Amino acid sequence: DQKVKVLGAGLAGCEAAWQIANHGILVELWEMKPAKYSPAHRSEGFAELICSNSLKAARLDSAAGLLKEEMRRFGSLLTECARKSQVPAGGALAVDREEFSRLATMEMERHPLIEIHRGEVTEIPRGPAVIATGPLTSEALSEQIQRLCGGSLSFFDAAAPIVTRESLDMEQCFAASRYGKGDSDYINCPMNKEQYDLFADELVRAERAPVHSFDAGNPKVYEGCMPIEVLAARGHDAIRFGPMKPVGLRDPKTGHRPWAVLQLRTENLENTLYNLVGFQTNLKFGEQKRVFRMIPGLAHAEFVRYGVMHRNTFLNSPQVLQGDFSLRPRPELFFAGQITGVEGYMESASSGILAGLNLVRRIRGQEPLILPETSMMGALSRYVAGYTGKDFQPMGANFGVLPPLREQIRDKRERYMALSVRALTDLEEYCKMAGVVLQKEPD
Ligand code: FAD
Repeated sequence: DQKVKVLGAGLAGCEAAWQIANHGILVELWEMKPAKYSPAHRSEGFAELICSNSLKAARLDSAAGLLKEEMRRFGSLLTECARKSQVPAGGALAVDREEFSRLATMEMERHPLIEIHRGEVTEIPRGPAVIATGPLTSEALSEQIQRLCGGSLSFFDAAAPIVTRESLDMEQCFAASRYGKGDSDYINCPMNKEQYDLFADELVRAERAPVHSFDAGNPKVYEGCMPIEVLAARGHDAIRFGPMKPVGLRDPKTGHRPWAVLQLRTENLENTLYNLVGFQTNLKFGEQKRVFRMIPGLAHAEFVRYGVMHRNTFLNSPQVLQGDFSLRPRPELFFAGQITGVEGYMESASSGILAGLNLVRRIRGQEPLILPETSMMGALSRYVAGYTGKDFQPMGANFGVLPPLREQIRDKRERYMALSVRALTDLEEYCKMAGVVLQKEPD
């Protein structure tokens, strides 16, 4: 009887295991936690969200919304877990991270064709397998992958601090979403010019944490998750035009738009924990406390988690992977998740779906699924395996990766909706031809 190994029960690994097992093939799912933890993972559960609790925009006329809809049609496990563990976040899909992980773990544990093994894998399996060990793949396995593929790269990512709601001074803050969207889902900490000037100067002066030895040598910063102090050092107003932008907000106390705003977003269903949106940081913990407490409302903030920076490992995929996520020299070996150079929780999960489905097809002697490039999942896999530039960097879902529409639509929202409609129509048509049954529209 055929048995396949899936390494890593993160976002990509859970989706890959789910697809393979649902096609009647026995899966050995290997996860190193709790025997060993990466520098960012904390809980024993599967599909752990290590930084933000947001799975980004929910609307279909957004790139992230389109990606989630495509995943749902493929029977994604994690979009379903997200739906069940959702917390309010304006137009975004944010989740209670513990509930999300609990649901994913439960589904893995109770699936009759998934066998769970806890322990670090240090060798690359010989038979059919999916490697989904993430951006923080353990060192021993990284070395093996490096040997097999060459060209494995690393750079830095950063996570934002989390504070308790009860420690906030609500006299200084107000609840609202930008432009009144959503049900006042964010807590906003407004600053006037004087407060901002002091804060921005102090942020740049604050002491940063030393870089870990395993991170040394390649301090590249990912633009979309840049530490707040690095952004602040780019110019006095840089963060006021970035994560602290005051647009779409009015302070009810003054009736005016504040000079700058820190937004806090809920972390759990109980609304007891809030993260500092866009405040990924590598400041020393004591310095985070001192500098972030200068923000109105945070004077006595209790930090339940400080911001951190970590390694991010990914393959030089255009050289080593094929369009179905299999390894050129070992076609029964698939990679999935952030390690392939997709960037983001749902992007990682979506590549797990495709790697899982393609492994099943490889075993059954069927043609690989190479989705249309007009779909978000198709465009991202094409980017990963087919990027032709010199400096391959991870990519998240965005409409820029899709080919442009034939007709010109000036209005951005309408254009985005037309791109999404085209993506879903082409996906349906392709899957019908390939004999893949997609899920129906929700009622
Ligand atoms: P993971 O979810 O990390 O899963 C990999 C699993 O493999 C882990 O459970 C790990 O314990 C296990 N493992 C590792 N090595 C072994 C081994 N040798 N044997 C057995 N098991 C092993 N994306 C976002 O969209 N939003 C964010 O806010 C965000 N923040 C990030 C913050 C940091 C610090 C980092 C590093 C990345 C962040 N990302 C974020 C990027 C990315 O979306 C996540 O890392 C995502 O979890 C990647 O999914 P994955 O399935 O590839 O890996």
